[in-house]
Amino acid sequence: MDSKAVLSRINTENIEFVDFRIVDLLGRQHHVTVPAFAVDEDTFANGIAFDGSSLVGYKGIEESDMVAIPDLASAYIDPFVAAKTLNIVCNIHNPDGTPYARDPRGIALRAEAYLQKLGIATDAYFGPESEFFLFDHVRYASGPSGSFFHIDSEEAYWNTGKEEKNLGYKVPNKGGYFPVQPTDSQADIRNEMCTLLSEAGLKVERHHHEVATAGQGEINFRFDTLTRTADHLLLFKYIVRNVAAKHGKTATFMPKPIVGDNGSGMHVHQSLFDGDTPLFYEKGGYGNLSEMALFYIGGILHHAPALIALTNPSTNSYKRLVPGYEAPVNLVFSKGNRSAAIRIPVAAVTPKACRIEFRTPDSTANPYLAFTAMLMAGLDGIRRKLDPRELGFGPIDKNIYDMSPAEKADIMSAPGSLAEALAALERDCDFLMAGDVFTPEVIAAWIDLKRGELEQVERTVNPKEYELYYDL
Ligand code: GLU
Ligand code: MG
Ligand code: MG
Repeated sequence: MDSKAVLSRINTENIEFVDFRIVDLLGRQHHVTVPAFAVDEDTFANGIAFDGSSLVGYKGIEESDMVAIPDLASAYIDPFVAAKTLNIVCNIHNPDGTPYARDPRGIALRAEAYLQKLGIATDAYFGPESEFFLFDHVRYASGPSGSFFHIDSEEAYWNTGKEEKNLGYKVPNKGGYFPVQPTDSQADIRNEMCTLLSEAGLKVERHHHEVATAGQGEINFRFDTLTRTADHLLLFKYIVRNVAAKHGKTATFMPKPIVGDNGSGMHVHQSLFDGDTPLFYEKGGYGNLSEMALFYIGGILHHAPALIALTNPSTNSYKRLVPGYEAPVNLVFSKGNRSAAIRIPVAAVTPKACRIEFRTPDSTANPYLAFTAMLMAGLDGIRRKLDPRELGFGPIDKNIYDMSPAEKADIMSAPGSLAEALAALERDCDFLMAGDVFTPEVIAAWIDLKRGELEQVERTVNPKEYELYYDL
């Protein structure tokens, strides 16, 4: 869509404001709003200036002038703002017009250009399944040496067996998935989210309550190319959070908000295409996978310890990656098996739908960086012909959670903590820098930022410590 078409849309649809959206290094969206009458072709061509120094992970105060250049194809009407507003996702440039090396969206665009330059495929498709919890409210409480928060939800009352609000309809712990209303008390809210997602341009495929007891949901939307899908994921989180807020609830994508119940993952389905031709399918192979798909899997599993510093980048991520909750800890691939890091969906799969599902990631990832890192690992696997069967990554078609320690002895595990993942990324980051997709400087900035979070968490007294030590 060109600038003339967008300007005419602004006119004919009586749009009052244009909202320019940018993303920081962590993956949080920020915005600058301009009255529609002040927007013209120059605004679209030259972008709008903003102060980059206050965005997490960006420039220091001494070099803070940045420019947001809108990607006009990403425009959608904001469903929540009272005055009619057109939101447009932007790329971040330096004042001299060159792309800013730390802009996550710029990194994703460079990865797509690199893929085409290699000539391996024309398009990489990504389909994330971003799970979330809806809680009634979050109550903040502070302890004597720092603060912590405590989640208080209607469903959590049921979970803890508290008398009040216990109406008897309970999603059974680890047995519930599809119970109908009134057990599923959030179906109307998810319907409303889906309607708004569709109006904003996402192709919604289905929604359902997830396995966790306390109000966990999942909404799936159709896969698309890398940068588009990362745009869609941020739009998805924006709509989920705002519909929840309209209903007096709060949505969280943190991977493990409730101890002892399933966490929230962001499984990512991936495939490569050459034009209309799917490159991951070959009839008769394991899971009907082509050799290219196997090498792509080999690349992801080989680089997984480092990759996970970008796909699971919070201290809380590692509280989800424990055995027993359908979150994979084992670096193997498998047909259908949900305890493996990579699952090959085999039910009702046509050549075009043939794909791999990397189950480890979670939604605390910056989607531009995480999808790019997965593609770079997969491409490295293809280029180096990393066969996952020769590297000890399976396939394993048994439930790995049920295997004995001796049977599991040779299976490699995902890093057990953010500290381990960051150390692995420091050792193994050349695959990300191929084609100058990631710069060494952005990787160093990421590691610094995340080590800073780690230090804050390690220094904070947590509720469990009161339980264990308060009266000792
Ligand atoms: N919630 C699980 C996870 O943490 C996944 C459940 C599912 O298979 O959808 O990854
Ligand atoms: Mg799920
Ligand atoms: Mg899944």
